[in-house]
Amino acid sequence: MREIVQLSAEDYHSVFNKSEATKLLLAIDAPLYTILDANCAYLNATNSTREALVGKSVFGAFPANPTDEESKNIERTIFSFEEAIRTKKPHTMHNYRYDIPIRDSNEFEERYWTTTNTPVLNEDGSVKFLIHSPTNVTEIYKLAEREKLAMEALRNQRKQLYAIFMQAPVGIGIFKGPEYIVDLINPPLEKIYGRSFDEMKGLRVFDALPSARGHGFEELLENVRLTGEPFYGNGLPIPLLRDGVPETVYVDFVYEPFRDDDGTIIGVICVATEITDKIEGQQRLEASEAQFRFMAESMPQQVWTADVNGALDYVNERTQDYFGKTAEHIIGAGWQEFIHPDDLQACLKNWAQALETKQLYQVEFRLRRLDGQYRWYLARALPFKIDDAVVMWLGTNTDIEEHKKIEQQKDEFISIASHELKTPLTSLKAYLQLMDRSVNNAESPGVFVSKSLQQLKRLEKLIADLLDVSKISAGKMTYNMDLLNMNELIGEVVQNVQLANTSHRLIVEGNPTVMLHGDHYRLEQVLTNFLTNAVKYSPDADEVIIRSEVQDDSIVVSVQDFGIGIERDNLGKLFERFYRVDNTAMKYEGLGLGLYVSAEILARHNGTFWIKSEFGKGSTFYFKLPLNV
Ligand code: ADP
Repeated sequence: MREIVQLSAEDYHSVFNKSEATKLLLAIDAPLYTILDANCAYLNATNSTREALVGKSVFGAFPANPTDEESKNIERTIFSFEEAIRTKKPHTMHNYRYDIPIRDSNEFEERYWTTTNTPVLNEDGSVKFLIHSPTNVTEIYKLAEREKLAMEALRNQRKQLYAIFMQAPVGIGIFKGPEYIVDLINPPLEKIYGRSFDEMKGLRVFDALPSARGHGFEELLENVRLTGEPFYGNGLPIPLLRDGVPETVYVDFVYEPFRDDDGTIIGVICVATEITDKIEGQQRLEASEAQFRFMAESMPQQVWTADVNGALDYVNERTQDYFGKTAEHIIGAGWQEFIHPDDLQACLKNWAQALETKQLYQVEFRLRRLDGQYRWYLARALPFKIDDAVVMWLGTNTDIEEHKKIEQQKDEFISIASHELKTPLTSLKAYLQLMDRSVNNAESPGVFVSKSLQQLKRLEKLIADLLDVSKISAGKMTYNMDLLNMNELIGEVVQNVQLANTSHRLIVEGNPTVMLHGDHYRLEQVLTNFLTNAVKYSPDADEVIIRSEVQDDSIVVSVQDFGIGIERDNLGKLFERFYRVDNTAMKYEGLGLGLYVSAEILARHNGTFWIKSEFGKGSTFYFKLPLNV
């Protein structure tokens, strides 16, 4: 058995001094708490010597740091001493600050302590002194403080992120787990979905948005969560029920994997911006563009647009058909290739001027058709302006060939009419002068009177034709419809024309007796015109045949001559106003009005007409009238 060593007071003293724990023995002489002894560990920890401490009040030896007003160490220490004395049990103060003076200076060193004040009791149980044993916890304290600060910073960062999340101008949502439970959605996403976070919180996202189910979004989410690959959707339509109204909402969005701290994917983050307005704007634009195209394509004219610099950028199909070229070709070449060389300069000049002044462009030119023929066109374009800036030019080319021709015919007509009117007038004047002379010379003026009358009749006929044309133009031609006998009408006309024309024999064939409803005078006019033409345009022949026969419920009347005939190309135009076949116009008198007036009269009788002719051999003019009496 080991011998038990008896320890002396010396030994205890050395245990006291060698102890690693700091120890200070204090007298119970409040408020001084005089230092009775301090061990080496304590002296080291407090940068002090035993001589400087022993016999002094602990508060005198360790005055409070005047710059540290918050710690209230003295009060706390006194409280701890009192507690230990009162309870007769050790009392511990944790992590409190009690700075120690730096030796030979007025400065203090920041220190943190955990201190136990242990009462040492007398045999009678009263407190003899206190063992004041502080442990320097400065390092631990500071470490803990740093950690606390780091945690605080983290918390702040989280708060900031949350604020950014909530205030972001784009929609953000977090859907967690394989069921995509709505974990968080910010106000813009609430707005896009038309549902609040409170309504959606904790639900599977597609349970919260049932109308969006089954459009492929589930698969996209799943793919992002399983592969970690983000998905970018541009302008995808999502059917949603917003405020109870079904709507298609267009969004640009990203599905990003949502990871926890160790990188494991625990859901999907959705970032979305609604672009419905933009898409709808685009759709409206497309619709109005389609409308414009439709309008442009449905117009009978060539329609085109040019950019602000005047470069052609669109032509309608009609234009392409006319030139027999593709839109690309025409746009690339511009009009120049197709404009008649004689008209090009004026056209270019006008266009340049219009571009410069931003005013109406208008010019007439000839455009070469697919078959090489030139036709007259009126080109017009107006600048389309927004805020006074030209955005584009919209132009049309209108075919004015017919108009031009009529203009030309009108000019010719006026010259013919004045010539035609002048001829009988000159003759009349001459006969009257002769009459005047013969009266004075007592010669018989009879022959001059009848010749004068003939010329007067001619004049009368010309003026009557002119009047008829102007009546037709004004829609004022009146008709006296009555029951009439066609057989009689033909007989009368033939007789009259025959009387005035001895050069030809007028032969009547058929001529059944039929009654029809019509204007006697006007139908006479038609037949007279056919007959006089037949005589006039067959100067070398001596016969004209008039046939009439009943066909079904109509009567067909034809007038055949053996004269100059009409070229096939001209056949269709004879009934036009002012039209006269070129090569005969100067040779034969007439205004080119008779057939035009006839056509009008026949039309008003629901009749039709046509011509058969062989150039150089003769013509047959037909008309057909219904007999529905
Ligand atoms: P015009 O007073 O010139 O005869 P119309 O209107 O009666 O006027 O006839 C128009 C044109 O049709 C004539 O100028 C002529 O060129 C042609 N034409 C009319 N009838 C005949 C015919 N029987 N034979 C040949 N040409 C004709």
